[in-house]
Parts: sequence; C-alpha cells; structure tokens
Amino acid sequence: MKLLPLPAFQDNYLWLLHDGHRALVVDPGDAKPVLGFLRQANLQLEAILVTHHHMDHIGGLDEVREATGAAVYGPAHETIPGPLTRLQQGDSVEALGLRFQVLDVPGHTAGHIAFFAPDVDGAPLLFCGDTLFSGGCGRLFEGTPAQMLASLDALAALPGDSRVCCTHEYTLSNLKFARAVEPGNAELAAYQQRCEQLRAQGQPTLPSNIALERAINPFLRTRLPAVAQAAHAFNGASTQDEVAGFAAIRQWKNEFR
Ligand code: ZN
Ligand code: FE
Repeated sequence: MKLLPLPAFQDNYLWLLHDGHRALVVDPGDAKPVLGFLRQANLQLEAILVTHHHMDHIGGLDEVREATGAAVYGPAHETIPGPLTRLQQGDSVEALGLRFQVLDVPGHTAGHIAFFAPDVDGAPLLFCGDTLFSGGCGRLFEGTPAQMLASLDALAALPGDSRVCCTHEYTLSNLKFARAVEPGNAELAAYQQRCEQLRAQGQPTLPSNIALERAINPFLRTRLPAVAQAAHAFNGASTQDEVAGFAAIRQWKNEFR
C-alpha cells in the first residue's frame, strides 16, 4: 500500500491510500488534486472517508463522488451531502481489502469521527481529521474541553506505532507553542529540529505516530506535572483538575503568537 498526502489550499493534506489499482481518499476538500492524481496514476477510487463537516474537508466531495462513483463514508451526526454511509463509534468500513474501525472523537466538531486500521503493511494507520495534529490538536469549535480530552485520550491509547495522518501541516507552529509549554522536553526540541529540516526541503512532517505524539504533544501530556504546572501558571488552573488543565493549554494556544 502507498500512503501519500496530496497538498491542498494553504496547508491541508488530502490523504490518499492505494495499492497500485484501487485507492481511497480522506476528506476531499478540493476535487482537483484528487482527480488529477487518480488520472495520472491510473487508479480507481473505491472509497471516500469523511471525518467532519468543515468545507476544507468536504468541498470536493460531490465532484469526486460523481467523477468516480466511489462510496462515501462519513459521520452519522453531522450535515454532509449524501448519498453516504453514516458511521459512528463501533461501526467499521471495508475498503481496499482493509477494515477501518470508526471512533467518535468529538471536540473540534460535535460529530467528528476518526478511522483506524489495525494493520496496513505491518503497522496501524489512523486518519484523525482535525482532532489530533502533530504537536497540537484542533480548535474547539463545537465541543467542550472534556470531550476533546476524552477524544485525545482515546487516540493516545492506540498502539505507539500507529501512523497518524493529520489533515493540516501545522506542525512547526504547534511545536513553537509546545516548546513554550515544555522548554525542558529534549525529545520535543530534537523533533522540532527534524521538522524544520523537512519543511526547509519542502517535505511534509506527516504522518506522525502515536508514540512520538505522546512524547512531544502538550495536548496529550496535560496531566504530567510540568504541563499541569504550566497550565496553572497561565490562568491559575488547578493542577488537580485535568479538564481545567487541558482547557488552559488550549486557551493559551489560541492566544499564542
Ligand atoms: Zn476542521
Ligand atoms: Fe480542517
């Protein structure tokens, strides 16, 4: 299987997985790069996976479905133009001979879902939309901090070697913030250097993986003493209240320049 991020707009990635003949795409915010790649690589699109309703994730949906006849799978509790199969926690999708488990990950949007395949060529694969970014997480447009914390906990509990396919190239700005939260995290500093080199060469920093995110992503580390202390220093959040600590880190990131 080949996994690649098709760049779109300013900083979106439209993830495409294919076996040389058949393909699936995640969150086709723009039809053009998807249809262009399918034509150029002579691939048949079998499935379209949708994580949430934002335009930069579904803007090309109708055009790609009409051009390819691919089956569409998306969240049960969001307004997405059909026809599509509506999915929630516990459901699964079969595509390219793989089975993807559906996870409810509310927070960025109320009905956001993620797709997890336990074994794709020897390692798990996660399509998490705008819930988890490398070094960061999505903004809380519709959900509460408690919901987002629970969603990120569920993703952080996936196997460490799970490849994390985030839908935006936000890594460098996220890591700048992460360094402010955890100036003493040596693995974070080393990762920031690697990512700066990748971006200087025009390369994506993604996919990431769960083990790395557990080590460097402040939003997966809000219960650790150093991060809880930083949250307390930001707005007085109690170090004993994990939701308040998470909310403080999210608020700090919103204001961070
Ligand atoms: Zn979004
Ligand atoms: Fe987005």
